[in-house]
Order: sequence, then C-alpha cells, then structure tokens
Amino acid sequence: MVKNSLIHFFYAGFFFVLVCNCAGKEAQAVSEEQQRKDTERPNIEQAQKNNRQDQNTASTREKVSRVLTAAEIPSELRKKIEENVSNSDSNAFLFQLDRILKNTDKYLRILVDKQHALPPDYEPDDLVDLQYKSYRAGITDPMMLRKKAETALEEMAAAAKASGVTLVVSSAYRSYEYQIGSFERWTARLGPKEAERVSARAGHSQHQLGLVVDFGSLNNNFADSTMGKWVTANAARYGFSLSYPRGYEDITGYAWESWHYRYVGEDLVGFINSWFGGIQQYTLRFIHEWEKD
Ligand SMILES: [Zn+2]
Repeated sequence: MVKNSLIHFFYAGFFFVLVCNCAGKEAQAVSEEQQRKDTERPNIEQAQKNNRQDQNTASTREKVSRVLTAAEIPSELRKKIEENVSNSDSNAFLFQLDRILKNTDKYLRILVDKQHALPPDYEPDDLVDLQYKSYRAGITDPMMLRKKAETALEEMAAAAKASGVTLVVSSAYRSYEYQIGSFERWTARLGPKEAERVSARAGHSQHQLGLVVDFGSLNNNFADSTMGKWVTANAARYGFSLSYPRGYEDITGYAWESWHYRYVGEDLVGFINSWFGGIQQYTLRFIHEWEKD
C-alpha cells in the first residue's frame, strides 16, 4: 500500500514537473518573441531617424558650403568651419548658429553696411537716455542706446572702473535724419571719396540701430590709450564687437575705427571670435546669406 502510494506520488510529481516545464518553455518562447518585436521596432525607428539625420547633415553641409561661398569667406576660415560641420561628434558651429538665429531680436545680427541699409523710418522703440551715467562724455546733445546695449555698457563701465579705467562714450544712437546731415558735413569737409571711408550714408550707419558705442577720442590714438586697451581686451565679455578693424577696409568698406563697437550679444560675439577670426563683417554677411538661402 505504502509502496503504491509512493509510486502514485512519484508519477504525479513527474507529470507536474513535465507540465510546468512545458508551460515554462511556452512562456519563454512567447517572451522571446515579444522581446524580438520590441527590439526590432526601435531598430527600425532608429534606422529611419539615422537616415533622416544623414540627409539633414548632408543637406546642412551643402548649405554651409553654399553660404560660405555666397558670403565670400576666406578659405582658411571656410576650411575650419566645414571641418567642424562634417564632424558629427562636434557640430559646435551649427549649435552656436542655431542659438543666434533663435534670438527673436533680429537687429542684433542684421547686416548694415555700404550695400545693406536700414529703412529710413527704422527707429528702435526702447532707446534710453545715457544722461547722468558715469561713462558719458560731456556733450550737450542727448545720447541714447537701446536698453540691452545700455545695460551691457553699464556693466562693462563698472568692471572698467573696478580696474581703474573710466570709459568715455562719445557717440551712440544716430537717427536717419542725423545721418543725412552728418554725411553732408563730412563730404563738404573731405570730399565725397574720403567721406565714404569715414562716414555712412543715411540708412547705412550701424549707429541707427541704437546698439553702437563710439568710445573716447574718435581717432585711432584710442587703440593705445589705457581705455582703448581695456576695451579691446574686455568688450567681448559684455557682448560688444569691434566693427571696423585695422587692415579690413576692403572687407568692411570703412577705414580702421578702433573706437566703434557694436553690441551684438554674447552668443554672437562668441561666434564671431570662434569661427570668423573676430571679423564681424564676415559673420554678419554669413548670417545674412544663411537666412536668405
Ligand atoms: Zn561709430
């Protein structure tokens, strides 16, 4: 009797193990099938994504090259940019460009030069008076800048003062009407050819943006002055960029003006210095062509 019971128990146990084992295998097979589907789906999605990215990268690379050509960027700078753009691990150039283009204030990056004018009626709507500021020169005409440029200038002037340097602002916003008179005065004084080198026709002056500051003496002795050296070394930290550097008259259309700085913001000044050798004109031309393309 005991023996029979033991045999029954043994068979029952065997059967139980068999059933469990089969069920287990079946469950395992189902989960493997599911797993395969799960891993396959993201693979397809990933492949589609990679494909899109490849296409984007290829067309972006083509656009970069096309725009570099249109903007007449010198070959050395061009090579550096093209190398960065084709390096999928880096792409610092495109990342920085994207940030600049996303800035809703297009006047920070707008190209204003001999060929590209602002509309006669363009007048910034956030001009603030520079009266009673420590950096203001003793001129009776009101001097104004756009709020964000004025805020940056204020910070820069405070930092300069902490280093024992007093910034003197000699000129800031100039209206379209003011520029008409100014260009006429320069033409009468120097003749039309020289006037073009040192002065802008109405609409073609960066000063109409309300983002430009002329420092100090308005001559190139400024470059070697204590103030000039401080501004050269520190302006970029506050978003200011030198518009008409020495030796670039053929590019900018203007004789060297060591005193004329345009506020472009920290993103753009970083971009100018990282990729375009510090030449604002190249950078703004590139961005102009990029947005047109
Ligand atoms: Zn100026």
